[in-house]
Amino acid sequence: MGVKDSYKHKGMRRSLVRKLREKGIANERVLEAIGTVPRHVFFDEIFESHAYQDKAFPIAEGQTISQPYTVAFQSDILEVKPGDKILEVGTGSGYQCCVLLELGAEVVTIEYKEKLSLLAQKMLGQMGYQASRYLVGDGSLGCQEYAPYDGIIVTAGAPIQAVEVLTAQLKPGGRLIIPVGDLTTQRMVKITKVSESQIVKEEFNNFAFVPLLGDKGWKK
Ligand code: SAM
Repeated sequence: MGVKDSYKHKGMRRSLVRKLREKGIANERVLEAIGTVPRHVFFDEIFESHAYQDKAFPIAEGQTISQPYTVAFQSDILEVKPGDKILEVGTGSGYQCCVLLELGAEVVTIEYKEKLSLLAQKMLGQMGYQASRYLVGDGSLGCQEYAPYDGIIVTAGAPIQAVEVLTAQLKPGGRLIIPVGDLTTQRMVKITKVSESQIVKEEFNNFAFVPLLGDKGWKK
């Protein structure tokens, strides 16, 4: 790994994992991935002490790196198996993408803001991670080019309209994890496409994400 990752950082990651366990995350593979990916490298050095607190933090372009609990929760219910093809909508910093890669997924990640995509691509390269594709574009429409997917994870708050087009890009057995609601609060929703004619919808707790923009997202 071409980034600084000291004993101090590793120790802080272990306590973050303990905290996530206390908050109810029980998926050992996800906890191991969170315990492996250095989150501090996504922070300016002066803010490094915030990297292993369980909170979201501002990144460039007015966006955020998601809270570790949120990353762990979404990764858990996504049920990633090694070799799964996962579409991530909202590359942001690239941290969630690293967690998916640690889980053995093949990741196609799409980001609306080109600057963030380029920064994430550079950072992941330095860390020794490699997504299959770093795309710039409107992920509210998914990405038909590489569909169908075993899983789709949306890391921005979506209106209900985004669900149908994304569900259509799942394989049978595929899962869509998407925060659905208004501009301030969203309920985490999991859609499992059991077969082409049957879907199962589950709803979880409330979360607060930055808005999903684009055609099926919120208009600026
Ligand atoms: N997964 C990210 C991480 O680990 O840092 C967190 C992403 S941040 C909470 C949400 C991201 O979604 C932002 O970077 C934002 O620019 C992006 N976004 C918003 N609307 C989008 C769209 N229609 N397509 C792709 N990305 C979008």
